[in-house]
Amino acid sequence: MDISYILDDLNPIQREAVTEELPYSLVLAGAGSGKTKVITHKVAWLCKVKEINPLSLMTVTFTNKAAKEMRGRIESILGEQLNQMWCGTFHGLFHRMLKMHWEEAGLVKSFTILDGDDQNRVIKRVIKKMNLDEATWQPRQTQWFINKQKDEGRRIAKLPNKATYVEEKMADIYLEYQKTCEEEGVIDFAEILLRCHEMLTKNPNLLNHYQKRFQHILVDEFQDTNEIQYLLLKQLVGNEGQMTVVGDDDQSIYSWRGAKSSNINRFINDFKGVKTLKLEQNYRSTTNILSAANAVIRNNPERLGKELWTEKEEGELVKIYRAFNERDEAKFIVDIIKSWMDEGRSLSECAIIYRSNAQSRILEDSILRAELPYRIYGGVRFYERLEIKNALAYAKLALDQNNDTAFERIINVPTRGIGAKTMDQIREAAREENSSLYVAAQNFANSSGPKIANSLKIFFELVEKLSESAEKKEIEGFFEELLDNTDLKKFHGKEPGEKGRSRVENLEELISAAAGFFSIGEDADDERSQLEMFLDQASLDAGENQAKENEDAIQMMTLHSSKGLEYSVVFVAGCEEGLFPHKRSTEDPKQLAEERRLCYVGMTRAMERLYLTYAEVRNVYGVDGFSPASRFLKEIPDEFKYEIRMASENISKSKSFSPKIVGGTDHKVGGFALGDRVGHPSFGEGVILNYEGDGSNARVQVNFDQEGTKWLVLSFAKLNKI
Ligand code: ATP
Ligand code: MG
Repeated sequence: MDISYILDDLNPIQREAVTEELPYSLVLAGAGSGKTKVITHKVAWLCKVKEINPLSLMTVTFTNKAAKEMRGRIESILGEQLNQMWCGTFHGLFHRMLKMHWEEAGLVKSFTILDGDDQNRVIKRVIKKMNLDEATWQPRQTQWFINKQKDEGRRIAKLPNKATYVEEKMADIYLEYQKTCEEEGVIDFAEILLRCHEMLTKNPNLLNHYQKRFQHILVDEFQDTNEIQYLLLKQLVGNEGQMTVVGDDDQSIYSWRGAKSSNINRFINDFKGVKTLKLEQNYRSTTNILSAANAVIRNNPERLGKELWTEKEEGELVKIYRAFNERDEAKFIVDIIKSWMDEGRSLSECAIIYRSNAQSRILEDSILRAELPYRIYGGVRFYERLEIKNALAYAKLALDQNNDTAFERIINVPTRGIGAKTMDQIREAAREENSSLYVAAQNFANSSGPKIANSLKIFFELVEKLSESAEKKEIEGFFEELLDNTDLKKFHGKEPGEKGRSRVENLEELISAAAGFFSIGEDADDERSQLEMFLDQASLDAGENQAKENEDAIQMMTLHSSKGLEYSVVFVAGCEEGLFPHKRSTEDPKQLAEERRLCYVGMTRAMERLYLTYAEVRNVYGVDGFSPASRFLKEIPDEFKYEIRMASENISKSKSFSPKIVGGTDHKVGGFALGDRVGHPSFGEGVILNYEGDGSNARVQVNFDQEGTKWLVLSFAKLNKI
């Protein structure tokens, strides 16, 4: 058999990693050195040369997008579709395992996943039920505490010496919360992994089955595994399994979620005879980009230490743009993207990456105005949108009337006269009868006044009807019926303006999402219906189907979700002290180091061009703040970077910078330039930050020393230049 195609485009060390016969191997290497490539080619090698059944492999990574790409790459090397192969994210794969063994896991068959938002609601409810004060026991903090325990593999009984009163109380809430989840048949994200680990520990036969089944486990982005993930992997590999892990300690960016890059050393210690390989050639980025990224990460202490080199051309310098404010920053990015398109290149080659989700709105705004398509990964995701969650709650209730979380969400959405008071009574009744809210509401309807009884009756009929259609129809038809019968479109469409319109569009988009849904990877033992799978997938990968998959669009994402991906042009926006590195991290060397790794991840996504932008003034929650440029920008040696001057400044060198864009960012209005110092008869002195409109409509935004920022119409305001 000619298998040369599997090895042909690998370098000697990659080849060694792929063909390694020893049971445990580790590839430790920097960004863009082909780690993911090793994983995909190794899967192909194992299937074709070692003749291992693809179903006997488990390939794990972190994001759904990465998993999808990985599966795609493997299928294209092998030239066949491998729907049944266990290739996915930790949560996706182990959720499937739970679905197949719900009984052993002590779950109800119809259990559903709580996403972060739902989890928060349940916690709120629990806190209320325990008669605790929400101000003291903040649901968000409690949620964080609970998830942390689970990520660490801890149940309440095993909390580390319940030191503080606060922790003890939180542990009580954890206990109560867990009880509620069990009763309602729901599990949160962290629970998926913990529950699986416990299930396998308690069921040696099942564990044995999976240890035998998975002959080889391959893990990408290993540096970001947390405790429970590590325990699960170790458990499944057992004594006879084989395991290949690849990772980069410089790209460990999830320690705040319990990731431990020390798992790399732990792996070497726990498994005897680990073969370690290092890859040092970067195939992704130009020399300038790579040198800049190397220079930044070199400032971190305690690295495992590796240096990357590339054969690629020098390329353009890394461009730094100092914007006046976030709007100017967004405009600059859009202008560059437009000129990129003028070169005949595509939008999907461009990624805008940012530290915090909140940054995306202004960016989106500018992109929308320029009428360019874009897709957001992570952030306010499609399936996290209010209207979508409401629609999905109806679907969940149709499948399982005992889903209290779904019931609570939509009992009065659209409004049907079931107010907070009635809801309290129903809750009370449910507690007394020890029943679900749905059942309690049915009983309640019999004893309540005619108005409430009637609207509840209509509600029950609706749910029953949907329940029938869930059984009979294809999911697309089911969602059509759901939207036709629930009045959700009318309800959400009532919101004024664009918002209402977009909510209705989103609801319609749900039908397309259902139509385009096919579950990746079916397993014969997986008995879920299409609708169940769809709902589970929606909670799991919230949003990754949001836009039309194949449309050429600008890619937008947080630094965290950019891991593993690559783009021709990358913008890292918001490179300011306080934002990036994040202000919470600047005091703590450990956290600062993590921010720097995040910067390294962001920079190394770029293949050809890299832009790092920052705004002198940024409006955060309605207040203008001034921040200096991020220290990371200063860490890039001058020889690799080029600072783009604003139009009002003198442009000295423009070797690698298109002057057209400078023309596009003309900051002069009515004789004033952005940054000019001006005086006003009543507000005193200040600096011009922004402008909009022209002629008699021109307005400027001035940050006054005493009065703060104000928008003024130029033709009225008696401004004079100082
Ligand atoms: P990251 O750390 O960012 O996840 P990585 O180490 O996983 O990066 P890959 O994504 O596997 O790197 O590879 C980076 C790019 O380099 C890809 O476009 C890949 O196809 C290419 N590449 C990897 N190895 C080689 C090689 N031997 N020859 C040519 N191109 C390669
Ligand atoms: Mg990778």
